[in-house]
Amino acid sequence: MNRVVKEFADKHRLEGSRAVVVGAGKSGVAAARLLHALGANVRMVDTNESLPESTREAASAVAELQTGPHNAGQFADADLVVLSPGVPARSLAEFTNGLNPRKVVAELEFASWFMETPIIAITGSNGKTTTTTLIGELLRDAGKSVFVGGNIGTPLCEYLLDMDPVDVVVLEVSSFQLQNCRLFHPHVALFLNIAPNHLDYHEDMDEYLDAKLRMFAMQEESDMAIVHESLRPVLEGRDFTKAETIWYSSAKRFDAPHLPGAHNKANVQAAWLAVKQFGVSPRNAERVLSGFRSLEHRLEILGQAKGVTFVNDSKATTLEAVAAAVRSFDGRTVRLLMGGKFKGGDVGELARTMEGRVEQVGLYGASRDIFEGPMKRYFPVSWDDTMELAVRRLVSQAHPGDVILLSPGTSSYDQYPNYIARGEDFRRIFGECQ
Ligand code: ADP
Repeated sequence: MNRVVKEFADKHRLEGSRAVVVGAGKSGVAAARLLHALGANVRMVDTNESLPESTREAASAVAELQTGPHNAGQFADADLVVLSPGVPARSLAEFTNGLNPRKVVAELEFASWFMETPIIAITGSNGKTTTTTLIGELLRDAGKSVFVGGNIGTPLCEYLLDMDPVDVVVLEVSSFQLQNCRLFHPHVALFLNIAPNHLDYHEDMDEYLDAKLRMFAMQEESDMAIVHESLRPVLEGRDFTKAETIWYSSAKRFDAPHLPGAHNKANVQAAWLAVKQFGVSPRNAERVLSGFRSLEHRLEILGQAKGVTFVNDSKATTLEAVAAAVRSFDGRTVRLLMGGKFKGGDVGELARTMEGRVEQVGLYGASRDIFEGPMKRYFPVSWDDTMELAVRRLVSQAHPGDVILLSPGTSSYDQYPNYIARGEDFRRIFGECQ
């Protein structure tokens, strides 16, 4: 257990208080364990009535678990409410209205109260996981001990409870979590980009931007904000941080031969700026970047089938990610697969930027009515019921040297449980085409 948690527990400040944790996923269970360790009486609430048995067991060991629709009684006696990353505070407003808003916090915020290690935090609409992972590798290569987590992998509460303290904590942070952060204070904060993402979740772009900016609000003069140039028009005039602000664009200094695309050059630059003050040298960077490959489902080159290159970019859930993917193969004939549950964005604008870069679009599954009209002005567009049929159609028309790119620009929820299942299905189809 981390020293600060231990000291806090020794002061019995939460002893006997009532804490309510909303959402019984990995982060929720970790938060409940930490609260329990601090002496709070924990209630976990989750609307899902069929939680896996392992979750029920883990939750019940430290909390009273209540499943089914939320009700006012669950929150009436709360001294502190901790929200799991995917839970919008708004969805609970009718139950938590009477509570001091400072008492309704994200899991990340709660954990950050106990942090004493320097934090590098990464947010943005696209590129968080890639940049976070790269930062972890760069620091490790320079001999630092690192915890990489947050939105990916291990929740911060779990680090505090179960892991040895490290030199640097690297956190991927989503706007979902930032909405309920007030004191969270990264020493280095990266803002990679913003896209009209998650518009089905946030009221509007302003709310989304406000959430992201909470990451910078508590920074001090000695801290650093690393912000992509494209955000200048949005942020100029806003007094969003006291930290030294560094605007960046693309990496010129380093080559990353296995990370395709200009967008990844920007991710590399952001990562380098974040780590160089932690003792990472240009030699460390060169070494790591020469071997660093695109992560699975993110412009992952699967290989060739009959001379046609298959690229799995299933994680591309925004139109900006699709545009970045297509630009990464300039000079090649790209046959693009799109489809799934639309999350928002300007399809007409995307189609315009892809003109001359895309040979053919194969749509599948949901959102045909959204994509087909704006796209067919620029390239031949087909539609199939399933991704498999769409892939086979593109394969039948492809020539050696072409690229078949799955970059769906949507969430996967119409036909797959998540982007990983979608990417794995594409990998299977690729295997069968060889
Ligand atoms: P996130 O964690 O923010 O979803 P990932 O690193 O998992 O980001 O990448 C998600 C998708 O976004 C992939 O399709 C990837 O190729 C694309 N992407 C990565 N970095 C950028 C960027 N800087 N701009 C636009 N798209 C990007």
